[in-house]
Amino acid sequence: MGAFKAVVIEKGEDGQRVGLTTFDEADLMEGDVTVRVTHSSLNYKDGLAITGKLPVVRRFPMIPGIDFAGVVEQSSHPGWKPGDAVVLNGWGTGETHLGAYAQKSRVKGDWLVALPANFTPHQAMAIGTAGYTAMLSVLALEHHGLASERGPVLVTGAAGGVGSVAIALLAASGWQVIASTGRPAEAEYLRGLGAAEIIDRAELSKPAKPLARERWAAAIDTVGGATLANVLSMTRHGGAVAACGNAGGMDLPASVAPFILRGIALLGIDSVMTPLPLRREAWNRLARDLDPGKLAAMTTTIGLEDVIAKAPEILSGQTRGRVVVAIQ
Ligand code: NDP
Repeated sequence: MGAFKAVVIEKGEDGQRVGLTTFDEADLMEGDVTVRVTHSSLNYKDGLAITGKLPVVRRFPMIPGIDFAGVVEQSSHPGWKPGDAVVLNGWGTGETHLGAYAQKSRVKGDWLVALPANFTPHQAMAIGTAGYTAMLSVLALEHHGLASERGPVLVTGAAGGVGSVAIALLAASGWQVIASTGRPAEAEYLRGLGAAEIIDRAELSKPAKPLARERWAAAIDTVGGATLANVLSMTRHGGAVAACGNAGGMDLPASVAPFILRGIALLGIDSVMTPLPLRREAWNRLARDLDPGKLAAMTTTIGLEDVIAKAPEILSGQTRGRVVVAIQ
């Protein structure tokens, strides 16, 4: 048993404290696979956990970090042996189970997916939970029967992590992508990822009418709140909206009109508890469709020692694309 470096959140009388410290392997939680974590990433939920802005952490002390790539060190699970390269997204890590901002993690083998052969661990975490959620959202639209021939697709929160990967994936499948952003200075970045049109997110943040002019056949919404209500009201007849985020709010001030008068479908995306077959489908499609050059263009890399200072930036919409946390 040894000690290793970890970001740890503790809760005291005066609220939570977060620090980079050492953690003892003996204090890891139950699991049948121990992983040497090499990379994690910064997702919106990690920002919430580290700052304590919303109560996503359900156990203290907690090691935050909802995703990792790494190498199996020990395993009593039949599917995994030492040396296997693996990826983990969600399942409560960083919320109820000790998470990824650490040199080691012990988890259930059933939570792991093999690192796809054509990704390095760094690339897998450049995708991370945000990118895998973008893929789940694209798959949800496809499983609903939508394809690029139906018309344009909207992506909200376009310059963020989910948004950036979603644009690249949709463009690769032939969609005409409309990107909604509050950062006009990122227009060139978004066009580089494959956006055909950029709109100002202010257009979508005012109180929504029950129905408005039909503008897109499909949408991936990372913002929620009034934005999602507007997106629904502007979706073409028979279209669908994959709702995966709440960067702009948890509420949904909408009417039933888009559902009952235009047959719109609202498709909920939860990456945390997605069953393994759909996870594998998502990672296989990412391996097939995501342009490595675009992935590199949307990625910055920080160290474990930088993650606490970076956390507030993702909540205030200041990070662009994806942030990889290089651990060892
Ligand atoms: P990011 O912070 O990287 O992206 C969010 C983007 O939303 C920002 O870059 C910004 O884009 C936009 N935005 C931020 N605040 C507001 C606001 N007040 N009003 C309108 N737009 C805003 O986060 P992620 O991409 O990591 O996550 C996006 C969302 O998806 C989060 O809510 C997260 O919790 C959720 N999520 C859900 C998952 C699931 O399983 N359902 C899994 C992963 C993420 P711009 O500057 O371009 O306007």
